[in-house]
Amino acid sequence: MNGSPKWTAAAVLILVGAAAGVTCGQSAKEKYRKSPVGYSDTPVLPGQKWKVHDIDRPRPAVVTPGAAPGQPPSDAIVLFDGKDLSKWTTQPKKNKSSKGGASGWKLGNGYVEVAGGAGDLVTREKFGDIQLHVEWASPTEITGDSQWRGNSGILIMSRYEIQVLDSYNNKTYADGQAAAVYGQWPPLVNASRKPGEWQTYDIIFEAPKFQAGKVARPAYVTVIHNGVVAQHHQEIIAPMAHRIVKPYEPHGAEEPLALQDHDTPVRYRNIWVRRMKGRD
Ligand code: MG
Repeated sequence: MNGSPKWTAAAVLILVGAAAGVTCGQSAKEKYRKSPVGYSDTPVLPGQKWKVHDIDRPRPAVVTPGAAPGQPPSDAIVLFDGKDLSKWTTQPKKNKSSKGGASGWKLGNGYVEVAGGAGDLVTREKFGDIQLHVEWASPTEITGDSQWRGNSGILIMSRYEIQVLDSYNNKTYADGQAAAVYGQWPPLVNASRKPGEWQTYDIIFEAPKFQAGKVARPAYVTVIHNGVVAQHHQEIIAPMAHRIVKPYEPHGAEEPLALQDHDTPVRYRNIWVRRMKGRD
């Protein structure tokens, strides 16, 4: 061999270095990290029966989220998909000639519209603690002011109203605008879109509890309006009322949901609900 010992040594070093590099790269890629799936030698969490990282604590149920934001997750009850009103009926208004029935409201192309005088649209099923998604749009044509601009409402348990109103540049009393707990709590901010544009409510509601004919725990509500927090775990003082404070009256643990007929042609679509259950 004619190669000088210096060059041979350098070549060997380069080769060894390269081989080491490949080995390091492979080991990093192939490295698999393992971790315990829980512990039983940890302290008990204050106020809970479970230990920190408790190996025996039940894992939460798997829910497949909607394909796009606002779409119903796998455990939701779809109340209205834009076409089918079979989960609803109408509640005739007192002293009105309406006979009720789902046909009272107008089914359009992918939406349902309030038909003034038909009565509230009411679910056949009853609900208590819920997560509720609703999309609504105010009429494009403005034919009134204040409370006569696209008034409707989400009547949770048929009596606790999250106001639906065209509140885009519409002056009215603060506790009567969109996303208000009607007659009680104005929204934290006004996140209204223009008339005719679709708006979203994501509502988390905790039903009131009654004991011996009295309120043991009032209702609480969180409302997200078009992605913006409008009510944050807000205590509900009383059932919906106009110009008065109406006292709580005991009712069932679950009651129907309703959409208010306030005689203005508000549209609704994509309505789904999840029953809220505690963890563990
Ligand atoms: Mg209303």
